Amino acid sequence: GYLSFFLLIAALTAYMWRDTFDPESVRGARVLITGASSGIGEQMAYHYSKFGAQIVITARREESLKKVVQKCLKLGAKAALYVTGDMSDPADPEKVFKYTMEKLGGLDFLVLNHIGNTNVELWNGDWDHVRTLMQVNFVSYLQMTAAALPVLETSGGSIIVVSSMVAKLPSPYVAPYTSTKFALNGFYGSLQTELALKKSNVSVSILILGLIDTESAMNKIRGFTTMTAYPASEAALSIIKAGATRQKEAYYPWFHYFTCLINNIFPFMKDIILSGLSLD
Ligand code: NDP
Repeated sequence: GYLSFFLLIAALTAYMWRDTFDPESVRGARVLITGASSGIGEQMAYHYSKFGAQIVITARREESLKKVVQKCLKLGAKAALYVTGDMSDPADPEKVFKYTMEKLGGLDFLVLNHIGNTNVELWNGDWDHVRTLMQVNFVSYLQMTAAALPVLETSGGSIIVVSSMVAKLPSPYVAPYTSTKFALNGFYGSLQTELALKKSNVSVSILILGLIDTESAMNKIRGFTTMTAYPASEAALSIIKAGATRQKEAYYPWFHYFTCLINNIFPFMKDIILSGLSLD
């Protein structure tokens, strides 16, 4: 009985996750990627370029953006441009979006990926940091989404939201960051259903990432965990595939789907699941 139940679950999961990605679906596509001066965003820019997309990347550091753009052009991007923007400034999401429209004349993928700086530490009562981080990690996403939705409606485009395991399994030392990711999952989860009710042809993909080996993440978590970090380039490709195949929710690495399942079935095991995150 149990065995056939698990075999059925395994078969369904394998079917759900079969790779249906067609690189042609992103060739020539118009893509805006936020937080692409480093880390996973930078790697996404390179993958989209190899697939021949037209991309606009944004972040604050101009010199880094320039270098990424040059590499994108070498890799085969049909177009690669950058625009600086600080997502803690409520005026900048609109500015970035306008620039993208001027240059690309439309949009197929809005990839929301940037995050503001936050410390890895026990919460010290600094609620004001949470408020600031909410603007960067959450409200600016909504501002970009509000601007992009009418355009995405005409192109049948997609919104890709880079979220985290912390939005499924609240983790210690990153309470402010965790709350911004919960906010994203909540908002975009609602939006998915609203779009379905409206019979919209815009898709929203929410990506749940485990620990990824970007320089900024590795510098921050040193001393806090010995968990394995997975390659940023692979994470980036899995995000692009999930968006292009219009998956509602996708996990990288894939097995974190089961980490979440186990946590949902046995919530009292949370402290055991997270016991690798020690104070020393
Ligand atoms: P990075 O720190 O490497 O990149 C963050 C990007 O955001 C940079 O391009 C940075 O550029 C930009 N950025 C920072 N502050 C601002 C700002 N105020 N305005 C505009 N842009 C800003 O992060 P990762 O690549 O590690 O993470 C990317 C995504 O993946 C995030 O959403 C993160 O939550 C998610 N994720 C990452 C995990 C990991 O382990 N790495 C795990 C789970 C999820 P600049 O400084 O030039 O502005």
